[in-house]
Amino acid sequence: MALFGKKAEKKQQPVASSLSSVPTVPQNTANVANTASLAHIALSAIKDGVIIVDSQRMIRLINPAAITLTGDIDVDLVVGMDVALSIQFEDEDGNKIPDDQSPVLHAISTNQAFESNNLVLVSKNNNKKFPVEVFVIPTGGPESDRIVTVRDITREKREEDAQSEFISTASHEMRTPVASIEGYLGLALNPQTATIDNRAKTYLEAAHNASQHLGKLFQDLLDVTKLDDRKIQPHFRPIILADQIKEITNNFVEKARAKNVQLVYDDPSASRSMRTIEQPIYVFVDIDFLNEIVSNLIDNAIKYTPSGKSIRVSVKSDNDRGVIVVQDAGIGITGADLQHIFQKFYRADNSQTREIGGTGLGLYIVKQRTEAMNGTVWAESVYGQGSTFFVSFQKLSQDEYEKRQIALTNELQLQKAQQMKQYQEATMVAQKNLEQTMPAMAPQPAPAIQPASTPAVPPTQPAPVQAPAAQPVQQPVQPQQAPVQPTPQPSYPPGQISQSNAIQNNQNIIQ
Ligand code: ADP
Repeated sequence: MALFGKKAEKKQQPVASSLSSVPTVPQNTANVANTASLAHIALSAIKDGVIIVDSQRMIRLINPAAITLTGDIDVDLVVGMDVALSIQFEDEDGNKIPDDQSPVLHAISTNQAFESNNLVLVSKNNNKKFPVEVFVIPTGGPESDRIVTVRDITREKREEDAQSEFISTASHEMRTPVASIEGYLGLALNPQTATIDNRAKTYLEAAHNASQHLGKLFQDLLDVTKLDDRKIQPHFRPIILADQIKEITNNFVEKARAKNVQLVYDDPSASRSMRTIEQPIYVFVDIDFLNEIVSNLIDNAIKYTPSGKSIRVSVKSDNDRGVIVVQDAGIGITGADLQHIFQKFYRADNSQTREIGGTGLGLYIVKQRTEAMNGTVWAESVYGQGSTFFVSFQKLSQDEYEKRQIALTNELQLQKAQQMKQYQEATMVAQKNLEQTMPAMAPQPAPAIQPASTPAVPPTQPAPVQAPAAQPVQQPVQPQQAPVQPTPQPSYPPGQISQSNAIQNNQNIIQ
């Protein structure tokens, strides 16, 4: 199989994609031709796909590994072709990425560097799919060539999945005994349920703290594996950012007070003149994710801020972004640590942090959640003086906010109506089943009170109990011997649709 660009190909021997058939290194490597030959050999031998494209996205050179991945058969056909025809991607959920939305093609066209390990390459060879790591590397100005490298990461993904599955199962299993240990230690420490001396109390308190830490670690691990598996998807809704952040901050006031740390929500509108009309900041986010992000940041701020100091939480507008700011006057983070704090399991290691418990997962979760909502998170810090964490999201205009609110309300109503309909149908089926299996016990119509045609209201008492009292039984009934038919159970009665459920089902429409 030939592999390089047409020009190069004329000078080179055809090279098959297997390593065994790679040509041997020429004796004399001291001249340019031989250097090119060596480069050719190297490109033929490596297992990563390499494609060189020009500024018009035309393929100038392609190596055997790339040919294998893309499923292209003939290099003569590929060289000179638009790279969009050779590399086609799906996202991890199996959705085809159209050319006009492809981040790889965009990076090639705009001559920008790009890197991703979340794309799936669809091969022309039987539509085989490979999870890949892709790099786009500009080599110079706008007219220069771009290098695209594509690496098959099927094995890494499989190993990651197995690891994630193991951690998820293990932490799930271990959470239960840890909760039980925590519960018993709580009982032992409670003077109303146990009597212990002071020394035992100190030991048990230490054990209680450690078991709480372990419980948090397992919970964080579970959250992380769910995140990595993308099991939890955001369910977006339009919100007024300040309202939400104020509410989350309020949930931590007690915790901060217990540590003698002052926690304040900095409301800019409160300090401005009465005549200033503050424009609310609207964003489109998942409320649970937002809660988790801001709670983690405030929790950390409390944890890493010594007693007597303060924490300020605020919301500000920065051009087209709404920004949440959590600022503390705590221990701070060194420049070296600051680069890593959002990595999984990373903890700054110094005398102060060693004394403060932690899992190194909180900020990783913050980053993942933020990015899942197309947001950005970053931190600034002066070691010994304090840290500030920022989370920003694209703002919605008031008009967009209102439109999405209306769409959400409509969708909720539709959901409710559908739930009501399902419930009515389930009730009717249940009633019919009952009539067939135990005719004498089936509820008889009671037209004066509730017409049979309107079964919308669920019976407050189970029907079989009411029936015998209202209608004297003619035949002896032996319910135990009656064949038992499964009775459909509606998941929840009308009017009790949890809002978050409704919103979850909603996202496709309001997004
Ligand atoms: P942890 O459970 O260790 O707090 P995180 O992922 O939340 O894990 O944070 C990672 C590390 O970042 C922490 O171990 C700590 O060193 C540092 N860090 C996070 N927040 C702060 C803060 N507000 N002040 C100082 N250091 C912080």
